Amino acid sequence: MTYCNEILELPLAQADHEISGLIDDERERQRTHIELIASENFVPRAVMEAQGSILTNKYAEGYPHKKYYGGCEFVEKIEEIAIERAKKLFGAEHANVQPHAGTTANQAAYFTVMKPGDTMLAMKLDQGGHLSHGHPLNFTGMLYKIVSYGVDRETETIDYDDVASLARKSRPKVIVAGASAYPRSIDFARFRKIADETGAVLVTDMAHIAGLVAGGVHENPTPHSHFVTSTTQKSLRGPRGAFVLCTEEHAAALDRTVFPGIQGGPLLQAIAAKAVCFKLAGEPEFKIYAEQVIKNAAALGLALRERGFRLVSGGTDNHMVLLDLRSRRITGKAAERVLEEAGITSNKNAIPFDPEKPAVTSGLRLGSAAVTSRGMKEGEMKEIARAIDEVLSSPEDAMTARRVRSRMADLNAAFQLYKSL
Ligand SMILES: *Cc1c(COP(=O)(O)O)cnc(C)c1O
Repeated sequence: MTYCNEILELPLAQADHEISGLIDDERERQRTHIELIASENFVPRAVMEAQGSILTNKYAEGYPHKKYYGGCEFVEKIEEIAIERAKKLFGAEHANVQPHAGTTANQAAYFTVMKPGDTMLAMKLDQGGHLSHGHPLNFTGMLYKIVSYGVDRETETIDYDDVASLARKSRPKVIVAGASAYPRSIDFARFRKIADETGAVLVTDMAHIAGLVAGGVHENPTPHSHFVTSTTQKSLRGPRGAFVLCTEEHAAALDRTVFPGIQGGPLLQAIAAKAVCFKLAGEPEFKIYAEQVIKNAAALGLALRERGFRLVSGGTDNHMVLLDLRSRRITGKAAERVLEEAGITSNKNAIPFDPEKPAVTSGLRLGSAAVTSRGMKEGEMKEIARAIDEVLSSPEDAMTARRVRSRMADLNAAFQLYKSL
């Protein structure tokens, strides 16, 4: 029997009906639901095209001009462009665009400057930090001695005096600034001062706010940090992927940590998509987008407050609102579920000093990056706040859920995306 390569030409719907059908289902969900998950976004079509391209066929271990494979003349140009754009966008001396994910980007920064057993000072996970900032089941919790700072009980904002005193006491090798659930801006200069005073390396993890930084609506951590790590898929509106920025001093060591230290071949299709993302994030339209993300989060937070919800820290400076649901007598877990039924996607999240377990929580994290990409503005945020209030006021009422769900689908229909996809 001769090999028939017709299979290579089959469209997805014919090659794999099951997966194709599920992608269609997911497209329909994205089309009809209001997307409020703070770490999600809708990427430009150009980013998807690059990520779904023939670049997936290429191996290119190593760095531009030092690749370990033949045939890299075009892909290394793509990688060079991605590196140059990342450096320019954030004003960095060096960039590595190969990390596959945010957790891996953090691993790259940590491995470059820490040995197992060293001490790392990062934000408490139940007060906003990320798994890769010291969770016991994460490699950070396994390899390093973790000391954690938190927020002030009154203001619910980072207690910088606590950070300073913990740093003086524990003399960490690395201090991590940055969070996954923190609605306020972060004072990077203050973090750097503490790092310098105690001889620590400052790693800023800007995964959530990278788009706000690129758009000039949040202070840029790059001039203050030895390393900056980030994902590209959140507010930056790029592919699922990550990168690390650092000062020249750490450049060669960082590159060695990424490859051959913790990764093999880079994902060229993702790197091309990151390059596109960096280009678009440097354009004037992106600044307008980032400004609207902030305005929308503020409008959503204000409208919810007017409806009696308590906002952790009293408000927001970024793309995120963290609701304390205790006064509404509903847990984060239950709220996430009933809102999903009503066509609003969000996630439960611990609030500072949360009495509930991490799998239940008393909080709900909402973000404005994705709905802003659809083109929604302050008026729509008020609509969404009203819907959230209605659903959470009668969480057991299936009629309310159904009514809101159809209203939310209508709202999304007025802000369509990917018309031809
Ligand atoms: C999302 C996030 C990450 C990790 O990203 P993954 O790509 O999911 O590994 C790291 N740090 C922070 C602060 C994040 O919010």
